[in-house]
Amino acid sequence: MENVPVGKVSVEINSRYGRIKDKFMGSYGKKPDYYARASGRVNLIGEHIDYCGYSVLPMAIEQDVVIAVSSNDSGRLQLVNTNMEYGMFECDINDLSINKEKPVWHNYFLCGLKGLLEHCKVTSPKGLQCVVDGTIPKSAGLSSSSALVCCAALVTMHANGQALSKKELSDMCAHCERFIGTEGGGMDQAISFMANKGTAKLIEFNPLKSTDVELPEDVVFVISNSCVELNKAATSHFNIRVVECRLASQIIAKTKGLKWREFKRFADVQKALGLTLDEAVNVVKEILHQEPYTKEEVCGILEVTADELAQTSLSANTLDVKTFKLHDRATHVFSEANRVLQFKKTCDLKPADASVVLGNLMKDSHTSCRDLYQCSCDDLDRLVDICCQSGALGSRLTGAGWGGCAVSMVPANQVDSFIKSVTEKYYGKDDRLKEKVTENLFATQPGGGAAIYLE
Ligand code: ADP
Ligand code: MG
Repeated sequence: MENVPVGKVSVEINSRYGRIKDKFMGSYGKKPDYYARASGRVNLIGEHIDYCGYSVLPMAIEQDVVIAVSSNDSGRLQLVNTNMEYGMFECDINDLSINKEKPVWHNYFLCGLKGLLEHCKVTSPKGLQCVVDGTIPKSAGLSSSSALVCCAALVTMHANGQALSKKELSDMCAHCERFIGTEGGGMDQAISFMANKGTAKLIEFNPLKSTDVELPEDVVFVISNSCVELNKAATSHFNIRVVECRLASQIIAKTKGLKWREFKRFADVQKALGLTLDEAVNVVKEILHQEPYTKEEVCGILEVTADELAQTSLSANTLDVKTFKLHDRATHVFSEANRVLQFKKTCDLKPADASVVLGNLMKDSHTSCRDLYQCSCDDLDRLVDICCQSGALGSRLTGAGWGGCAVSMVPANQVDSFIKSVTEKYYGKDDRLKEKVTENLFATQPGGGAAIYLE
């Protein structure tokens, strides 16, 4: 099994790594021992389905989190961030407490640190002095949180002389990012470790597997940020969707005579019932009603008390949710899982109209996210519409949604006119956004995965 590569990086004065090194020397009065990096990602298709057990199709982006590190025997963790928005942090490395209510940035670092120490059963962890530098826009659907968690785990692994494979690190980080309170799947962590420059990946779960996907040569993927932010750990939007999926799978399982308490994910129910994805969509129509379910109705169907339901199905920040929209969420998940398979197949078979087919799949994905999964927002819908009017063959929200970025597939020879048009129609209309176009609207190529660098 493949491990994270250890390579050399040139740390020139005035380069990014040079500036990080300067900050390190200014903060700790010495040079870092090594650097670790983990990238963000853009999900091309397959939204909100990784935590249901279904395959997704992301690629890593160039934007990443880099951490400069020196380890010692002080028993202390010291964190400094190059961005003034994120304050310094220090604690006893043997006494880590992660605050779910207020997910201040250092808590994401603690997730990776604690996850790695527990996984590898490290009893006397090395003290760490770190400088963190991130270039992924936060809470924008490009997975800045997982890049930080993965990078922190990598730093901890290297400092404590451990060697996990990319696959082990991916699974471990998917698990430990949940310490922050979000019940995510494993896409973000998997692509951060398993990405290879130049290729998108189909990521499959249980067991985790990544397969290269060759994208058409005549298109470019362009990311545009709506500049509406939503922190996933500070709000319950994300976990409510996870719980709605869990409840829908449990009700389908119970209605079909399965031991419903053993099921948490649609993919497992589908497999147990031996259904195709199309058949699963029909089962949803047959079993679930379109109106929202009250908690009482769910308890009645599953024959449990509200307290038992909290144990079998809810998360800490969804205990007070009163209604659940099960039919539409389930329909989105099964149909989106199908679109991912069609996207992959189209990339493999390369029909003459491949880019049109892929574009339409992306458009359908957005419509489903907007109307059935209800994880978009007005500005993001407007941005996606503008992208389609500006020449994109397809455009959709990417990442959890409720704000953040759209990803558009644009004919390679039309990228300049596309960027000009989106700049005018979305960013140019708003004085706050006018100044920030280049960091929020950019073409992207599949980037590389996590790495350790020595100077
Ligand atoms: P995303 O979609 O980017 O993953 P999340 O809401 O899951 O968004 O997580 C965003 C949080 O991650 C930020 O509020 C911040 O706490 C943390 N974060 C992101 N980038 C950085 C960074 N460069 N330095 C420190 N913390 C960061
Ligand atoms: Mg995140």
